[in-house]
Amino acid sequence: MTVLSELLDAIDGGAVEVIDLTAPLTAQTPILTLPEQFGQTVPFGLTEISRYDERGPAWYWNNISTGEHTGTHFDAPIHWVTGRGGDDVSQVPADRLVARAAVLDFTAEAAADPDFLLQVDHVRAWEREHGPLPAGGWLLFRTGWDARSGDPAAYANNGHTPGISVECARWLAERAPIIGIGVETVGTDAAAAHSFDPPFPCHALLLGADKYGLTQLQNLSRLPPTGAVVLAGPLPIVGGSGSPARVLALVER
Ligand code: MN
Repeated sequence: MTVLSELLDAIDGGAVEVIDLTAPLTAQTPILTLPEQFGQTVPFGLTEISRYDERGPAWYWNNISTGEHTGTHFDAPIHWVTGRGGDDVSQVPADRLVARAAVLDFTAEAAADPDFLLQVDHVRAWEREHGPLPAGGWLLFRTGWDARSGDPAAYANNGHTPGISVECARWLAERAPIIGIGVETVGTDAAAAHSFDPPFPCHALLLGADKYGLTQLQNLSRLPPTGAVVLAGPLPIVGGSGSPARVLALVER
C-alpha cells in the first residue's frame, strides 16, 4: 500500500491539499425554479428530532428534506429522458467517482456577459495550451458564479447565467473523452437553455451519452488547470436521478 501511504503522508505534510468544492446546505441554498406548470423541487430543510431534551436526553439529530438536485449535486444519466435506460445514481460505478479534472476558467467572459456560452473553439484553445481533456475525467467550467451562491437573486440573475453551447455540449458528449462536466451554476445548462435546440443540451446530450453532471461547485479558483483529482460523493439513492454530493479535490502544492 505504498501509493496510498505516500498520498496520506503528502496530505499530512501539506504537499497535497484537500479542497472542498461543496456549497454548504441550508434552507437558503439556491434551487431551480421551473415555470409554474411543472413540478417543483423543495428547498433543503432540517427538522429537529431531539436535542439533548425530553425527546432524546443524550442525543441531537434531525430529519432532512431535500430534492435530489439541491445544492452541490450529481446528475445521473437517468435524470434526463435521453438517458432513461441508463444508470440511476446508485448504479454509477464507484471508480468513476474518483477522476482527474480539467479546469477551464471563463470568469472574465462570464463577468462581461452573463449569458456567455462555452464553445468548442474555447475548449480547443485550452487544449492547445494545457493538453487534451483527461480521459475519464471531468471538465470543470469555472465562471466565478460561486461568488453569488450566498445570494439567490444574484445567483439566478433574472434568467441570465452562463453555460455551454449546443454544439459544444454535443462535442463534449460524443467526441470528448470526459465522464462529465462540472459547473458553478444551479444546473449544467445556461439559464437560457430552455430555448436552445435541443433544449437543455448539456442534460440531453451528456446524460444521454452515459455522462454526468456536477453543479453548484465552489472554490474552483483554487484548482490548477490540470492535475487536480476530484472525489464526488453522491448518495446511492436506489432509483435516484441524482443526489446532493460532497465534492472534494486533491491538489498538489
Ligand atoms: Mn441536477
